[in-house]
Amino acid sequence: MIVSVASGKGGTGKTTVATNMAYSLDEKVQLLDCDVEEPNAHLFLNPEIEFTEPAYAMVPEVDSEKCSYCNKCAEICRYSAITLVGETVLTFPELCHGCGGCVEVCPEQAIAEGRRELGQVELGKCGTVDFGHGRLRVGEAMSPPLIKAVRNHAHEQGAVIIDAPPGTSCPVIAAMNNADFVLLVTEPTPFGLHDLQLAVEAVKLLKIPCGLVINRSDLGTDKVHKYAQKEGIPILLEIQFDRKIAEAYSRGNMLADINPDWRKSFAGLYRKIEMLAEC
Ligand code: SF4
Ligand code: SF4
Repeated sequence: MIVSVASGKGGTGKTTVATNMAYSLDEKVQLLDCDVEEPNAHLFLNPEIEFTEPAYAMVPEVDSEKCSYCNKCAEICRYSAITLVGETVLTFPELCHGCGGCVEVCPEQAIAEGRRELGQVELGKCGTVDFGHGRLRVGEAMSPPLIKAVRNHAHEQGAVIIDAPPGTSCPVIAAMNNADFVLLVTEPTPFGLHDLQLAVEAVKLLKIPCGLVINRSDLGTDKVHKYAQKEGIPILLEIQFDRKIAEAYSRGNMLADINPDWRKSFAGLYRKIEMLAEC
């Protein structure tokens, strides 16, 4: 089962929930940190990295000898990553989304598939947790292909927990797509509610069942609770504000290590998700 842990905004405790849920399970589990622009799950799990490989995105390489200047490549590109200026085809690899459309439409087979390095995929282990994450190259803006490269290493069997990037844009969709369940982590503040609503809309478009974890649930207002009730989104765990949690986070400690009750809570959270995903 693939569970994607997401949030409409950063700083909600998404990584704390994803890492502790994986760490608290007794069974075979894999944690994939797909927040490739700013991966931080490794700071808590301290995995031993055993395997590293570069990830690439496809970019067009034009053979000007074959080109007939028909402009079809520029017409199909939605990102203006390839354009015709006079009798020269210019490419802008940093704008290219690697869709391959220009290669397909070129009537002269003048465009070959080149590649540019996006970053690295690293795999390792932390006790019973198989770990994986991506590190986007500094200055690189195209994170979805790297997220896909990390997800290509997802196990076929057992639990796979994905720590998605924050927000609701393309990288988040790449991290949630084809998941069996999306666990949304939020906080009961006006900003939390606003971004939760956006995240719920994205999950609805993907037609994936979802549930909620409310962090610092005793602070703020009850509007997130009311919204969840109105939308029929189950609240699977509420985490009250606790100074010890903040201290553990700042030291890179796992909540499941500092208090066995947390281990039970996070394992229980996964069991609830299992039941909901099967419905
Ligand atoms: S691969 Fe797609 S995004 Fe890249 S230049 Fe070609 S059409 Fe544009
Ligand atoms: S589609 Fe092919 S032939 Fe036409 S302008 Fe582009 S590279 Fe040249």
